[in-house]
Amino acid sequence: MSVTYNKLRKRLRRLVGKAIDDFQMIEEGDRIMVCLSGGKDSYTMLDILIDLQKSAPVNFSLTAVNLDQKQPDFPADVLPNYLKTLGIDFHILEADTYSIVKEKIPAGKTMCSLCSRLRRGNLYSFAKEQGFNKIALGHHKFDIIETFFLNLFNGGTIKAMPAKLKSDDGENIVIRPLAYCDERDIAKYAKWREFPIIPCNLCGSQENLQRQAIKQMLLEWEKIGNRRLESVFAALSNIAPSQMLDRNLFDFVNFELATGKLDNEAKFSDEEDIEKDEIEIKKPQAKIFFP
Ligand code: SF4
Repeated sequence: MSVTYNKLRKRLRRLVGKAIDDFQMIEEGDRIMVCLSGGKDSYTMLDILIDLQKSAPVNFSLTAVNLDQKQPDFPADVLPNYLKTLGIDFHILEADTYSIVKEKIPAGKTMCSLCSRLRRGNLYSFAKEQGFNKIALGHHKFDIIETFFLNLFNGGTIKAMPAKLKSDDGENIVIRPLAYCDERDIAKYAKWREFPIIPCNLCGSQENLQRQAIKQMLLEWEKIGNRRLESVFAALSNIAPSQMLDRNLFDFVNFELATGKLDNEAKFSDEEDIEKDEIEIKKPQAKIFFP
């Protein structure tokens, strides 16, 4: 193994371990369903989690799950063959979401949003049926930044992709162990490990055009090389609610000066006072994966 490969592997392990610690993603007894699409990100996530499992101070199980969405030319034997070589527990689910998407979305329109919604629905239902309490997804730092700008430019909201969240149906916890990892590191690692990559455009769909435009913008920023993206990413964990305009996040009405409480009796509009909303930043209780 080359020195560079070892360094890269260590870096990915360290960053995944740190994300797990920071967000308390994995706890004793967890049954984790690792969603595997056949892309570089999910292969890398599974690989690093298996590695960390060997030295983790808590016991947890990993089950790889892939959903065969019946896209034309999907090579159905690639993932089972690969997973058998790992000797881990896995399931390949089948659901013809491709036909549904084709039927509902007019030709030429992007299909990814409905396709991924249907994929999520199938995977989350399976997790519930099988009693997995955590679902691991392979999104990385770049995905998080892209989503942030997509929401900012097109959704009128400051919202990214959390490293840990409750699933849409509120019945599972979704974790993103690659949240701190750089996509370029993942791509290099996947190449080194020679993962049998299955492309996600077998359906012929173009990735959402707005997402592509954001990606392009971020790549241009990267070229300038002034660490702008690092700063954006750091900002996502360093929010100052009192410096924004969201009255649900910060109580602009009842804050106190050193000399005493502001007189808020006089109102300039009919709006009701906003209940005080406590913002609590929870520190990780124990470092379990990250030395
Ligand atoms: S590229 Fe195809 S398979 Fe991948 S999310 Fe989009 S519609 Fe689904």
